[in-house]
Amino acid sequence: MADHDSQAEHTKAEHTHGDSCGHQAVQHDDHVDYLHDGHKHAEHEDHYDEH
Ligand SMILES: [Zn+2]
Ligand SMILES: [Zn+2]
Ligand SMILES: [Zn+2]
Ligand SMILES: [Zn+2]
Repeated sequence: MADHDSQAEHTKAEHTHGDSCGHQAVQHDDHVDYLHDGHKHAEHEDHYDEH
């Protein structure tokens, strides 16, 4: 079983999500997703997973 979903096409180098990054944060089980142009990003180590 994979420990993460597909990696998002956007990277932390392009944009770092945070409290005031302008994207809506959504609690998802044990982590926070950020709504991003129709998909969701979840921080995972050095990249974002797409949910
Ligand atoms: Zn991942
Ligand atoms: Zn994205
Ligand atoms: Zn953001
Ligand atoms: Zn998630």
